[in-house]
Order: sequence, then C-alpha cells, then structure tokens
Amino acid sequence: MTTINENFLKLQKNYLFADIAQKVAAYKEAHPEADIIRLGIGDVTRPLAPAVIKALHKAVDEMGSADTFRGYGPEHGYEFLRQAIVENDFAPRGISIDKDEIFINDGAKSDTGNFGDILGTDNSICVTDPIYPVYIDSNVMGGRAGDIVNGSWSKITYCPCNEANGFVPQLPDHATDMIYLCYPNNPTGTTLSREELEKWVAYALKHNSLLLYDAAYEAYITREGVPHSIYEIEGAKKCAVEFHSYSKTAGFTGLRCGYTVVPKELVFKSKRGEDVQLNQLWNRRQCTKFNGTAYIVQRAAEAIYSEEGKREVRETIDYYMTNARIMREALTEVGLKVYGGVDAPYIWLKTPEGVGSWEFFEQLLTQINVVSTPGVGFGPAGEGFIRLTAFGKREDCEEAMRRLKNWLK
Ligand SMILES: *Cc1c(COP(=O)(O)O)cnc(C)c1O
Repeated sequence: MTTINENFLKLQKNYLFADIAQKVAAYKEAHPEADIIRLGIGDVTRPLAPAVIKALHKAVDEMGSADTFRGYGPEHGYEFLRQAIVENDFAPRGISIDKDEIFINDGAKSDTGNFGDILGTDNSICVTDPIYPVYIDSNVMGGRAGDIVNGSWSKITYCPCNEANGFVPQLPDHATDMIYLCYPNNPTGTTLSREELEKWVAYALKHNSLLLYDAAYEAYITREGVPHSIYEIEGAKKCAVEFHSYSKTAGFTGLRCGYTVVPKELVFKSKRGEDVQLNQLWNRRQCTKFNGTAYIVQRAAEAIYSEEGKREVRETIDYYMTNARIMREALTEVGLKVYGGVDAPYIWLKTPEGVGSWEFFEQLLTQINVVSTPGVGFGPAGEGFIRLTAFGKREDCEEAMRRLKNWLK
C-alpha cells in the first residue's frame, strides 16, 4: 500500500492571499464602480530591461542554428554567468567566491525550499517573525517543524521583530541548527547592520549552525554600510549559504533565474564522524534532481551585468524606490508610523492605535479602495502592521496617497 508524506497534512492552509482576493472580489461586486488600487502585490510590474530582451533574442536565434544550438547545460549553470556573478556581485565587495561555489537556479524560492534535502531531518529551525512563509512550510514538509501549538510550530524557534526591538531579532538563548535570515527583509523592509550580522555569524560558528541567508532584495539597499552579502562578515563562509534572485532585481519573476552560493569551506560532520562538504552534497543533489535553467534565460541574466544592463536595471529599481519614498513621505505626513522602504521595496506600516491588521486592511479597502497585505499573515509578530509594496505604477501610488490624505484629514 502506498502511503503519503504525512508531513504535508500538517501544513496550515495559506489563506492569506486567497482571503485577500476574496475580500477584494466581494467588495468589487458590491461596488462595481470602485477604482481599486493594489498595493499588496509582491510581483514586479515594470518590463524587462532592453539589454535583457536583446540577449534573449540573440540566444533564441542561436538555438535555431545547428552550429550554436544548446541542449542540456551544466547542472551548476553556464560558466559565463557564474563568472559574471563572481566578478560583479562579489569581487567588488572584496569577497572571493569561486565560480564552483555558485549554483545557478530557477529562482530563490526553489532553492530556499529544496536546500533542506541535504540537511538532517532532526535539525532544529530558527526563523525571524514575521517571515517569508517558504522557510517554515518547506520544513513542515521535511518533518522538522513539530506540531502547531497555539499558532506556532513546536520545534521552530521564533525571533520576533517588532517596534520594541527596532526590528532587530535577538539571538536565541539556546542552540538552533538551521537559521533563516532574509535581509533586506520581506515583509518588514528593514535591514541588519554589520554588527548585528556579526552576532549571528558568531552564534552559528559557536553552535555549528547553518545560516540560510536570503539576499533576494540586496539590490534595493541604498544606504552606505548596509551589508549586501553575508560573506561581507568574517567567518560567514564557514557557516552560511546565500540565496540570490533576479526576480526583484531585474524583473525575472516570469523568466525565472537566480543563484545559490555554497562555499567549499562549509563542512559539517556526518553521524559517522566524517567531514562532509555541503558544496559536494548540493552538487550531487542538483545533478540528480535538476537539469539547469534554460540557456536563453542564463544569457538574459548575464546581460544584467553588462554596462547597459546595469544602468537599465538600476533605473527600474530607482523607479520602485521613488514609489517607496512617495509613500513613506505621505504616510508620515498624515501621522502614521512607517518602517522599511529605504533599502527595500516594502513598507511596513503600523496600524493606528487599537486597530488590528485585518481591520485596517478592511478600512483601507472600503474607505479609499486601496488593497494592502495584513502583517499578521506573515506571522504573529506582524499583528498591528500592514505591508505595502512599491512595485506598482507611479500614478497608482500617488493616487492612493492622495486618497489616504483626504480620508485622514
Ligand atoms: C520574491 C522573493 C524571493 C524570490 O523568489 P524567486 O523564486 O526567485 O522568484 C526569495 N525570497 C524572498 C523573501 C522573496 O520575497
């Protein structure tokens, strides 16, 4: 008799975005004339850079000629892209990464979710709260989360990030094994300083823990001194993997490409006491279960690193970050408390005194026809906040802020 992976039955239904869609649809049906502005979307809206489109066309043509046709590519990813990553994302920051430590993927969600394949099922988990749901759900599937007790998983350590601690998570007071950090953060839009990251690296080295560092929003950092990579911290190559994505950086949410860094210095002991390189295990895993990202997509990603590509991608990021600034300023002007939006495309907005996440979501929807994301949907510490994204159209951001000012006047 075939059995199923019972861990999947433990997953909480992720009602968040379905609930939002349903509430918006119901409102729209009752008020067909309403002009609804969506500031809850986590997807980009600007088109791909011309340099990327040019590279795609060229690569497509290569696929149409017997001389330049490409079939299966290397599982690690093509060398031209891994080389461009080493030279552009790491070398300028003084980080030396070998191209064999880079694994091209089809986006960071897959790898953040799959990385647990090569790690023991008895590892304990540590996450910041609120959090990108993939880290928890993939560990529920992997059997590491325990059971839900009062809304939290019994084997997961949550480090709350709230106003009181300035959205800086405190280190756990006990050892944990797999630690997920995402900076700049989704959903709070906040970052961690070098000193704070140094504490996590020291903790991980002390306890033989693994940091799983999600740098999906690294390109949005604007302030000097905010680390772009965990490898800017001394010792991190011995305790951290890092996930990158071109989704938010260059509008690749539909094209699909990113990469994972697995340093060779990352060595853990097997139960038999042998030293095992995570780089080798991950390579073995990828060679078995993954056949690479499309050649044309890797050429498109390479084009991001050309002079033209860099400039165009920067323009798009600036467009989103101008949206973020417009929203921050308007929200602050009406007396609301705003976090994030400086080094990330997310604004973490405190709801007015005594108003819960869902209640404020409803007020924004019904009073000014603006859709947000209730913060509590990202974890218990998100209660009392909503998330707004800067990924919309400029006119929509401006109009939403006009409505907000009129409403709160
Ligand atoms: C959007 C996002 C990603 C990127 O996912 P892709 O699969 O690369 O599109 C990764 N991590 C976080 C926290 C995100 O918000």
